[in-house]
Amino acid sequence: MDSWREAECKRSHDPFYKYNSHDERNSKAVGDAFIWVHEPVIVGAGPSGLAVAACLMEKGIPSVVLERSDCIASLWKHKTYDRLRLHLPKQFCELPHMSFPTCFPTYPTKHQFLAYLETYARQFNISPVFHQTVECAFYDRDLSMWIVKTRRTDKEGEEEAMTSYICRWLVVATGENADIVVPDIEGIGEFKGPVVHTSEYRRGDVFREKKVLVLGCGNSGMEICLDLCDYNAHPTLVVRDSVHVLPRDILGRSTFGLSMWLLKWLPIRAVDRFLLFVSWLTLGDTSQHGLERPHLGPLELKAVSGKTPVLDVGTLAKIKSGNVKICPAIKRMMSHGAEFIDGRAENFDVVVLATGYRSNVPSWLKERELFSENTGLPRRPFPHSWKGERGLYAVGFTQRGILGASTEARRIAHDIHQQWRCAAKSVGNPLKNSITTAVERDLLHTCTGD
Ligand SMILES: Cc1cc2nc3c(=O)[nH]c(=O)nc-3n(C[C@H](O)[C@H](O)[C@H](O)COP(=O)(O)OP(=O)(O)OC[C@H]3O[C@@H](n4cnc5c(N)ncnc54)[C@H](O)[C@@H]3O)c2cc1C
Repeated sequence: MDSWREAECKRSHDPFYKYNSHDERNSKAVGDAFIWVHEPVIVGAGPSGLAVAACLMEKGIPSVVLERSDCIASLWKHKTYDRLRLHLPKQFCELPHMSFPTCFPTYPTKHQFLAYLETYARQFNISPVFHQTVECAFYDRDLSMWIVKTRRTDKEGEEEAMTSYICRWLVVATGENADIVVPDIEGIGEFKGPVVHTSEYRRGDVFREKKVLVLGCGNSGMEICLDLCDYNAHPTLVVRDSVHVLPRDILGRSTFGLSMWLLKWLPIRAVDRFLLFVSWLTLGDTSQHGLERPHLGPLELKAVSGKTPVLDVGTLAKIKSGNVKICPAIKRMMSHGAEFIDGRAENFDVVVLATGYRSNVPSWLKERELFSENTGLPRRPFPHSWKGERGLYAVGFTQRGILGASTEARRIAHDIHQQWRCAAKSVGNPLKNSITTAVERDLLHTCTGD
């Protein structure tokens, strides 16, 4: 902390004071820009990062939001299919301090959700620094500060410049969906047709009359099958594991909302029994159509493993009518089709990988206490997952969607606010100093041509 004070003191006398450590880690960064930021640095401008920035702003604390893409909520804007709507009702997907417009439907479209997020960012004056991919972040014990190294990429994705942000608080908001998961499938390289991940799938018009093999029966895989049917394509869904399919709504109320309400009064297993009974009444026995249910109920399974039940938006009817075929796991891919573990073989024109995403945190955060190296998720479960040591925070990694992220964002802002007030007393007014930070950011933009 003394070295931090010393550096802080130098900085307060020289607004363009640049951190210049001679140790090996930083010698690689010769010629790079260094920026000292008083504010918390938030990595990721998705809903979670925006929520933290807004909660901080509510307390009068600005922040620096670093985003690798060219926009906020890049997952929603660049990596989702056109027909996507929020899976959960809007009241469960609101960010702190701003409701959805009342004219929005219960399940807003992705374009409505994006419009809401744009308004949110404007409302709270959040201006992320775009095209900044965080490649490395570590805690410098000498300085008692976090060093966050970014690579700036231009629109064509070519490298331009490295920048190191030096900060006291680092909020990790890069999400559970940062990198796509592509499974190792024997023979996939031999398959002659296109292989696309759901992050590249927009709509089924380009697959008209094609035989499409969809791998993965989560919400995205199921809905893409429905979309393919709407465009007269012929989807086959690979179902390797058991899966809970529930109706999206029960008796005019959202299944999710009803479950949350029932959980206030009943134990989880009782609510699960209720959900399974209503699902059986409305959807029938899904195992007859190749969709075996897991032994644990849907809510208990979610709590134990994080596996989300599928909320049916019409795919099950297509499965029952035979428009969507169900197949077991793939044994191997061949040049024009696939062989399944039950010995069947069939030709396909296209493969869609609905195989999900993973966190990318272990690839850039040099810290192993808060985050697990294997999963890229916090080691401790919700509600203890949001705070690490030495000013490190995590938001949006608890498989609880936007609702969970909003709760964490409020906690993080409250915690930083406590320290901000102490810092204000010991080193002067951080808000005043942040004006200097803004000057420095301008300097960076001049350097990088942003
Ligand atoms: C198809 C789909 C539908 C969903 N529907 C719902 C729903 O209805 N309700 C709900 O609550 N949840 C839903 N979810 C869950 C979803 O994860 C959250 O809604 C939300 O997008 C998570 O927000 P986030 O900010 O944590 O992560 P993200 O939205 O993934 O944002 C993370 C941001 O960090 C950036 N980033 C990543 N790595 C770096 C790096 N190294 N440097 C700089 N920037 C980086 C990314 O570019 C991205 O913009 C859905 C998810 C998907 C995929």
